[in-house]
Amino acid sequence: MSSPSTNTLKIGIIGFGPFAQFLSKTMVKQGHSIRATSRSDYTDLCTHLGILFFRDMTAFLESNNDVILLCTSILSVSQVIKSISFHSLKQPALFADVLSVKEYPRDLLLQVVPQDSDVLCTHPMFGPESGKDGWKDLTFMYDRVRIRNEVTCSSFLQIFASEGCRMMEMSCEEHDKLAAKSQFLTHTIGRVLSEVGIEPTSIDTKGFQKLVQVKESSTRDSFDLFCGLFIYNRFARQQLNNLELALESVKQQLIKRMNDELDQSTYTPYNG
Ligand code: NAP
Repeated sequence: MSSPSTNTLKIGIIGFGPFAQFLSKTMVKQGHSIRATSRSDYTDLCTHLGILFFRDMTAFLESNNDVILLCTSILSVSQVIKSISFHSLKQPALFADVLSVKEYPRDLLLQVVPQDSDVLCTHPMFGPESGKDGWKDLTFMYDRVRIRNEVTCSSFLQIFASEGCRMMEMSCEEHDKLAAKSQFLTHTIGRVLSEVGIEPTSIDTKGFQKLVQVKESSTRDSFDLFCGLFIYNRFARQQLNNLELALESVKQQLIKRMNDELDQSTYTPYNG
């Protein structure tokens, strides 16, 4: 891997969906040279953003990237990684990812990335909405899975540190345990609230306004992303079970109390 003489990197992004577009704007602003490839054609958008877009994966890989950043959906990452012709790399690179689950891409990358290239697994814990006014104090999780080129790795991490992110180094396993209890639960509640059909009313409490926000932010992300959080985080299923049991337990507590109350009550509803 060539050591970049300055802090500017050549970053090749695979998967130029909403999150990659969001990240790349800050990377371009910082002076990094960004290239991208994706299933869909983003040539016009990339031209507008000052990014070189490759329709062809081989030409993309041959373009001497210091970092190859995987930004595809969780559900497609295995297929996308299979489509990478590693022999086309002209130099070792840092393979990084931003997927919202971490053990899964780590294992996939360790199986295929050439031994002379490095692996960094990351999860920016924010998105286009929460990060729209800057990244200050937003959390950036990372695991230095296989790093020998410290210069490239720290230059890449500096992209987020210099924007004021709260840098959290932890293992992919620890991330997945915590994210199942926090992010997956938030998305699940948001999707349930959407199924319930909640909408703002004229008498909203602050608490209800927050629930509407949770519903809206969860459903703004793709359904693929939500499914990925469940299928490829081995800790998520337990959280879903816990939630189901908890709802039933709260319901039973209410029904028991209602029956106790009504047994002693003389109240009858007024029927006009
Ligand atoms: P997403 O729906 O999770 O992923 C969209 C991307 O996946 C697009 O680049 C799309 O390519 C690609 N893709 C989907 N199906 C594909 C297939 N069958 N073959 C090849 N490519 C495929 O939406 P996203 O919000 O942009 O998220 C991208 C990644 O960032 C995800 O892994 C997500 O977990 C992670 N992430 C997202 C956020 C967030 O706030 N959104 C935050 C942190 C991390 P085309 O556009 O070319 O079709």
